[in-house]
Amino acid sequence: MKCPYCNHPDTRVIDSRPADDGCSIRRRRSCDVCGKRFTTYEKVETIPLIVIKKDSTREQYHRDKIESGVLRACYKRPVPTEKIQAAVDRIETKIFSMEAKEIPSSKIGEIVMEELKGLDEVAYVRFASVYREFKDVNTFMDELKKILE
Ligand SMILES: [Zn+2]
Repeated sequence: MKCPYCNHPDTRVIDSRPADDGCSIRRRRSCDVCGKRFTTYEKVETIPLIVIKKDSTREQYHRDKIESGVLRACYKRPVPTEKIQAAVDRIETKIFSMEAKEIPSSKIGEIVMEELKGLDEVAYVRFASVYREFKDVNTFMDELKKILE
């Protein structure tokens, strides 16, 4: 990056840290020629992802929604916050690695369930029961049996 003071083309990064907004990186740079220091901000490009809901309407993807779903499922369960965050991270990685512009909410539900299964059994059943909207107790018991086996 060019030095804004002397236009020298090479500057050194002396410090990098996430900016307060959480979506950019703040870098302190130093010019080898004039010795002056300046700050740059690098914005991470976010890919807009659209979620197709059950009724075919679309809405923008939000991490918060996944997070609150997982949190709700883990309510009063002995799951540490770090583990919940790590699970949401893995869920997001899976979602974004599909490199799709639109993703059905059902697909996201499957991915979340997959993660919850490894996180906490009760949380998994809770989520699955809401997500799949069990029509009868038998379906619910089938799910439960699968877990207990
Ligand atoms: Zn300079």
